[in-house]
Amino acid sequence: RAHAGGQLPDSPQPPAPRVLGVAVPSPLRRLFDYRPGRHAPPGGWQPGLRVRVPFGRRHVVGVVMECRDDSELPPSRLKPVDACLDEAPLPADWLWLCRFTARYYQHALGDTLQQAMPVLLRQGRALASRTRERWCVTPAGEQDAPPGLARAPRQAELLAMLRQHPHGLVSQAILAQSFTRDQLRALVDKGLIVRHEEPLSAGAPSDDGQRLAEPALPLNGEQATALSALHERLDAFHPCLLHGVTGSGKTEVYLQLIEAVIGRHRQALVLVPEIGLTPQTLARFRSRFRVPVVALHSGLTDHERLDAWEAAASGRAPIVIGTRSAIFTPLTRPGVIIVDEEHDGSFKQQDGLRYHARDLAVARAHHHRIPLLLGTATPSLETLQRAQAGDYRHLRLTRRASRYAPARLELTDLRGRQRRAGLIPPVIETIGETLAAGHQVLVFINRRGFAPTLACHACGWLAECDHCDARMTLHRQPPLLACHHCDRRRALPDACPECGSIDLRPLGSGTERTEETLAALFPETPVHRIDRDSTRRRDALEQVLTEVRRGEPCLLVGTQMLAKGHHLPHVTLVVVVNADAGLYASDFRALEHSAQLLEQVAGRAGRAAHPGRVLVQTMHTDDPHLRLLADAGYDALAAQLLEERRAAQLPPFRFLALLRLEAPHEAAVVELGGLAAEALRGWLTERGLEVDCLGPVPAPMERRQNRYHLQLMLSSPRRSRLHEAGAWLIAWLEGRPEARRVRWSLDIDPQTL
Ligand code: ADP
Ligand code: ZN
Ligand code: ZN
Repeated sequence: RAHAGGQLPDSPQPPAPRVLGVAVPSPLRRLFDYRPGRHAPPGGWQPGLRVRVPFGRRHVVGVVMECRDDSELPPSRLKPVDACLDEAPLPADWLWLCRFTARYYQHALGDTLQQAMPVLLRQGRALASRTRERWCVTPAGEQDAPPGLARAPRQAELLAMLRQHPHGLVSQAILAQSFTRDQLRALVDKGLIVRHEEPLSAGAPSDDGQRLAEPALPLNGEQATALSALHERLDAFHPCLLHGVTGSGKTEVYLQLIEAVIGRHRQALVLVPEIGLTPQTLARFRSRFRVPVVALHSGLTDHERLDAWEAAASGRAPIVIGTRSAIFTPLTRPGVIIVDEEHDGSFKQQDGLRYHARDLAVARAHHHRIPLLLGTATPSLETLQRAQAGDYRHLRLTRRASRYAPARLELTDLRGRQRRAGLIPPVIETIGETLAAGHQVLVFINRRGFAPTLACHACGWLAECDHCDARMTLHRQPPLLACHHCDRRRALPDACPECGSIDLRPLGSGTERTEETLAALFPETPVHRIDRDSTRRRDALEQVLTEVRRGEPCLLVGTQMLAKGHHLPHVTLVVVVNADAGLYASDFRALEHSAQLLEQVAGRAGRAAHPGRVLVQTMHTDDPHLRLLADAGYDALAAQLLEERRAAQLPPFRFLALLRLEAPHEAAVVELGGLAAEALRGWLTERGLEVDCLGPVPAPMERRQNRYHLQLMLSSPRRSRLHEAGAWLIAWLEGRPEARRVRWSLDIDPQTL
């Protein structure tokens, strides 16, 4: 098969190696040596073959990474592999990416391979396209009164049914009509029908003439300029930032670029944020192209996921679209990688293998020598800096496809104003006017639940989580206290556990409370709440959005789930309940992230026939950053933030790695953190490397899930030096007995501190 990269059966076999270096699923950063078993795979031993091997007391699935003749162990100590599970190695581009990822993120290769392959492959299942049988009538079967059926009435009926289907029928459809496999076989034996096998999943690419199902839109000037810039270099590494305001038609540019790529018989890989892979997005891709669009989302079964992987690896799937982990989809003829909303935080995995899918997309496009398109209205400072430095081509879309430019943010002062569920009277008034004019209003509040916490008015007690340094959120639907950091739940107390007072009141507001208040203020208008709680059912979000798109006046209350990507043509007013959370946070990226979010939320207003307004409530109307965002927009703020980062020597002008340490007992973490910092500093001084080591310091939430968290920050102006220091630190930790009682990990390019 095309993806295999293995040897043809008749090519000479390489001499059998004496030793196989195998990556097994384990956190240990090394290969394990085995002897090849008695049965060599058809193409001989090669890297990329999965094997079942004895490991400790278990038998596990590993991947051959090296074929050698020598080992550090004497031959007698090497165990043989139990079996080879593949006829041909796993796809070469995928192996390359896993090796790259393990090296870059300094993660164990065995664990990286495991995480990057579908569950069924991890379990040892064969990688073959699953097929189904289709039964078709032969010319002999088409004749009148074919022979041999006089005494077989059911076979005659079966043949008659098949004759009505010129493209044949699949087994499932036939057996559902109570025909049997024996009857099918009998008809085959008589030469009246034939059996074909066809791929079960994604299907085969259809004829070229049929590639487009729906005509492309005529591009506006800026879109056309961007597209022709992309067309210039389809056969080279060509990284581009498509920097276009919300609603400027970036997706249309993606679609037409993909059209060019599949027209050259190459494949397109599209990464979208977690929130972005909606039925609406998929429908847009699927209705444009006639070729299959394989979607990798969390709703797939393990079988479907394996099918999708195989379809991409074999080249049957020309278009693959998915969230973060889709970056690990093998492609046999890669033609372009597109990352939509490249600034989105969901591209970074926050535990285990802490990779960033956008950064891997850059590496992968470079390796394949293909174009890379990073699209966003609000570029991350990393990407913006590279565009400014000329490493990425900077393509801009400054105009919306619709009539109205994105609305500016209007800051409204919260100070000294009476509030109802967080909203001040003039804002409530504007909401009322907008609804009266027949439009829709979106109220953005980045807190789900009824209120951030419950407080005792007699003694000041606050509901806190026993396991985290955090307050528990008050929920009303259903009524309970929940910790959003560890998911602990508690019944609502009848009285204050400290002083016994029954004067317990919600403190602040979340989506549920705002929903309740708005419903009371505007009893005639439907209020839809959209957050993680209200959309637990899979199609709940789509149902609400379908209702909203019908255009009747309504109120939408939601978290960032609502802020991104959705096209809500009838919303003309956006209200941000509180913009202040990110302004004074300790994390140096908080401001960048909240500016991106505000710009995305604001982008929901006025996308169709009417202009929009965005009211932003804040206690800090004079804050210079917020003012700059409101008066001059995201690009101006981003330019200033970049200068501040340069001055402060922070990313993207310096590289970071964060060692995270955690354990149930504070003492163990503190001890190890102190020893590690001291050892690392000693080594750095000795080597004279330009790497700074900061800490150890407690993590921002020191106690989480009843474990203590500590961190040590490494920073350097040179990435290679940082990697050297990281590698040394890992080796040191792996050799320390104290480190066995502590869970530790090194986060390269951490996104949150
Ligand atoms: P973005 O991805 O930049 O937010 P979209 O691609 O979703 O923007 O486009 C926003 C809206 O504008 C969509 O409804 C889309 O159909 C429309 N649109 C995009 N490009 C064009 C065009 N060239 N002509 C007409 N309408 C367009
Ligand atoms: Zn009390
Ligand atoms: Zn908790």
